[in-house]
Amino acid sequence: MSQPSPRSGTDRCPGVFSTHAAADGAVARIRLPGGRIRPDQLEKLAQAAAEHGDGYLELTARGNLQLRGIGDVEAVAEVVVAAGLAPSSSHDMVRNIEVSALTGRIGGVADGWPLADRLDERLRVDDAAAELSGRFLFGIDDGRGDVLRRGPDVCALLHDGEGDTLRADIVVGGAPLGSATGLDAIVSALLEVAHAVLEIAPGAWRIADLSDEQRGDLELRIRATLGPVIGGAIPDPGDPIVGWFDQDDGQVLLGAVVELGRLPARLGEFVAAVGAPIIVTPDREIILCDLDEGVAETVVRVLAPMGLIFDANSPWARVSCCVGAPGCAKSHAPVREDLLEYVDGGVEIDTREHWVGCDRGCGAPSEPHVRVEADPQGGYRTQRR
Ligand code: SF4
Repeated sequence: MSQPSPRSGTDRCPGVFSTHAAADGAVARIRLPGGRIRPDQLEKLAQAAAEHGDGYLELTARGNLQLRGIGDVEAVAEVVVAAGLAPSSSHDMVRNIEVSALTGRIGGVADGWPLADRLDERLRVDDAAAELSGRFLFGIDDGRGDVLRRGPDVCALLHDGEGDTLRADIVVGGAPLGSATGLDAIVSALLEVAHAVLEIAPGAWRIADLSDEQRGDLELRIRATLGPVIGGAIPDPGDPIVGWFDQDDGQVLLGAVVELGRLPARLGEFVAAVGAPIIVTPDREIILCDLDEGVAETVVRVLAPMGLIFDANSPWARVSCCVGAPGCAKSHAPVREDLLEYVDGGVEIDTREHWVGCDRGCGAPSEPHVRVEADPQGGYRTQRR
């Protein structure tokens, strides 16, 4: 039975057509299913950030891109639509799909991209799914555990096969409820979970908002549609995807991070000029794929001095932050300035840290990390999360 909605008011997650008003202007979030963006699309966004925003593309904790300090919201929306980055205005905010970033290129038990494409296609024409909250997250994990560990609301944990033989466990709010076989059946199972959540708890932001009774109803309903759970061990977390990596097909993949998790527009244009497929990860990494060795060497030589960091030992591979003051009126501190000073002091950071200006904790990683939170007295307190 439907319960009253805990999701009061409007969805404040920004999108392209519904921006968020911050102290430093509007914020638009461009959702990139699986974090993928074509070079021509990145080039247009970078130009829009320079022309209409604060001159940076922010990398978000869900592998999306964000423009901040926007004066002309409509001009940005036009650029995003023309670049093919918002193919459906009604579904712009619900295309939240995380995919194992290295899938199909390095390791993994199966290639997750065909499944991600099919899910995005079907999600965009699914009228009911347009009612999902902008926080509801679909995951596609190719068996390495990177996506599952971030706690998506519903996740396809791939096992083996491809196309009609692809097998996956369907994991809902962290619990494997059963399995499905074949691309379409797996996508149907993921969408069925979304539909069931909307019916059982239409106001829920995420699965975690469901009461025990609602959760029980959901699990009963979904289990009835699935085969037995396949199961198996999930590997330990991998290292940051920063540096030079050999792909299974012999090409090269480069992973990089940027200071404060924001890509200067000019550097974004240079990244786009490489002409390679680009993936943005929830760890705020920028991955350039399918490079020849010679091209990869040139990319490192040219882009490293411009600010793209290919060193996995850099603090920026493990530390992130919210915008803080003055961009956010709620902040107790100029978080970015303070973090820059901290990192410039030569610290070594070996666990993930996230710095925030208040207890809302925006942009926090979903994995375990240390939160460094500004307090009203002008200091910072730390807490393991
Ligand atoms: S965590 Fe607080 S200070 Fe930082 S962006 Fe969010 S609301 Fe603003």
